[in-house]
Amino acid sequence: MVDFFAVQVAFLLFESIFCFISAIVSAAKNSRDAKAKHAVVFLNVLAGLLLLFDYLTYVLPGRVTPFSSFVMRASTLAVFLICDLFLVAIIIYISIVLFGHFDLKREQRCRFRFLTCCMLSVVGMAMVIISHFSGLYYTIDANNNYNRGELFPLSVLIPVAGMAIILSILMQYRKETSRSRFLALLSYIIFPLVGFLFQYFFYGFAYMDIGVAISVHVMFVENILYQNQQIRIAERTDIRTGLANEHGCIEWIRTRKSDVNLEDYAAVYFDLAKYTLINRKYGVDVGNQILSSYAGAFAEKLEPDEFMGHQTGDQFIAIVRKENLPKILELMKGLPVNFKDETGEIVTESIAARAGVYEIDKKDIKGEEVVTYCRTALDHARSLGSKQVVYMTQELMNAIEDRKRFDLDIRYALEHDEFVPFYQPKVNSKTNMVCGAEALARWIHKDRIIDPGDFIPFMERNESICDLDMYMLRKICADITQWRKEGMEIPPISVNFSRRNLADPDLAKKIDKVVKESGIPKELIEIEITETVDEFPLSTLKEFVDSLRALGYGTSIDDFGCGNSSMSVLREINFDTMKIDKGFIDRDDVKDQTILDHIIKLAIDIGLKIVAEGVEQSAQVETLKNLGANVIQGYFYDRPLPKEKMFERLKNPKYEMDAETKEKKED
Ligand code: C2E
Ligand code: CA
Ligand code: CA
Repeated sequence: MVDFFAVQVAFLLFESIFCFISAIVSAAKNSRDAKAKHAVVFLNVLAGLLLLFDYLTYVLPGRVTPFSSFVMRASTLAVFLICDLFLVAIIIYISIVLFGHFDLKREQRCRFRFLTCCMLSVVGMAMVIISHFSGLYYTIDANNNYNRGELFPLSVLIPVAGMAIILSILMQYRKETSRSRFLALLSYIIFPLVGFLFQYFFYGFAYMDIGVAISVHVMFVENILYQNQQIRIAERTDIRTGLANEHGCIEWIRTRKSDVNLEDYAAVYFDLAKYTLINRKYGVDVGNQILSSYAGAFAEKLEPDEFMGHQTGDQFIAIVRKENLPKILELMKGLPVNFKDETGEIVTESIAARAGVYEIDKKDIKGEEVVTYCRTALDHARSLGSKQVVYMTQELMNAIEDRKRFDLDIRYALEHDEFVPFYQPKVNSKTNMVCGAEALARWIHKDRIIDPGDFIPFMERNESICDLDMYMLRKICADITQWRKEGMEIPPISVNFSRRNLADPDLAKKIDKVVKESGIPKELIEIEITETVDEFPLSTLKEFVDSLRALGYGTSIDDFGCGNSSMSVLREINFDTMKIDKGFIDRDDVKDQTILDHIIKLAIDIGLKIVAEGVEQSAQVETLKNLGANVIQGYFYDRPLPKEKMFERLKNPKYEMDAETKEKKED
């Protein structure tokens, strides 16, 4: 036979301990909402005490020592008092959950009902104390046994009335909280209430305690779930605007996929025009305020099933129904935003934005893809400068895929030595002897030789050009070392360095390190860099050239004459050599000849060596010779040669011109 009494007593003790543990766990939690945390701790402590004292009232009857008798009386008193005090604890908690705070000031919603509950609680406790001495609610006999008194029903009625009032508040404001929170709150009231009523009718069993214990368990579990949910929300929310962040956006797409057809939506990734200026004008704090006001004003224009999120900085993403897209894009032209400036005055600014649009065309698409596509469209809009809205097209998408593949191929090529230097001789046209060479990169890819025109521009865009240039320098040094070992006399070899490298202030030192480590004389390496100074100031180029010269390297200005700052470059920067661009050599009208004549004279006057590039015909060689430019690089003498052929050329550095020209024509 199961001893129900023993089970009940053990249950009370166990549950009491559980309530205290739950209170400690709640108190230790690092919760953002301190008020709710304190209310939970208060409720749990009360529940723990209630169960503990009730436990004592079950184990003490029959013991007749004065101490037992005292504890029995005190515990019974405590149980009755706590039942009334519970009302206050529950209204505090419910008010905090529903309305965010608890007080009894005029503005407090349901103030009258809250006040009534507090009154009931106070009156109830006063009645308990009176009855303790008068025996109205209960009496304790000589054997330490508990008996209900005449007014016992009142002791139940008061808390039950209070609970009913709280229930009415909860039902009325159930929309103020989530469904799961509402159900949990409901259980805090229903279980003890039902327990109370049961206890009233079925005397002798701790129904009320069971009800309280159940609601504490529900509260415990619900609080853990709620906290986890809050953490998840915080992870997906941007603090500045309160909007979803990128995680939130991806999550929104993931969860909406099952409810709606994503193909009905378009994603718009946009950034605010002139936000840097706004920040500068009003300061960062006002700038932040503008950002959140903009977010609020924009979000107001959206339908309930549409989405708006904040990405980084001044970038937002909106996911809207396709039929609403024109309306949303209209907002990009300017959205009036109100904010307070530094003086506290309300100002209105119309804020425009630039957008990338991706009209979702796949039902089962990942959130990450949606974000990438519209963000890329925005990047494209930025690169076009003036365009306000750019749509993600199939071509753009293919280009992204190609770029990704190309990027991987290039990384692979750099790691697996697929790039090799070819060498194009520079020839002294007076002696027809090789007097130098330019190293030019070739990509040996899938048995094809790819020219730099097909990879350099791309590498300049993704910055891998810097890796290529250093890689080439190492390869060139290795080739020179090998040729020298074979006893060959080597003329200076020029190495191309992209202007992109100028971002690295230690570039000259790094070049020097590579050359030194290879052990070749510094005079054998000359650095070629183009004259255009687009992204870096002239001073950066000057510093680079000066440090190279100081370290003992020759420098040459490439493609001279095709940029727009040629003269200032010549004035400011001390190059050793000027390479005249092929464009000048090719043209043969009188005006161009005159310019070429002047450039060459100028170079000679300021002590620059001259190399003429892209020379293909003997007539050009003759003209250049007459003008005083004797060093020639071009197909007229040789195309860029693979290492082995260059070696042959170095062994035999004199061009026998008649035979050579004939040979080339046959090629
Ligand atoms: P660049 O530095 O101006 O190199 C000269 C280009 O003109 C080379 O093209 C060369 O093959 C070509 N060329 C030489 N003589 C003639 C001629 O008589 N007729 C014609 N039509 N072309 C001639 P390439 O090798 O295709 O290189 C193109 C550009 O790629 C180079 O122009 C250079 O800017 C860049 N490049 C090549 N290798 C590297 C490298 O290792 N690093 C960097 N940063 N850029 C490189
Ligand atoms: Ca060059
Ligand atoms: Ca050139």
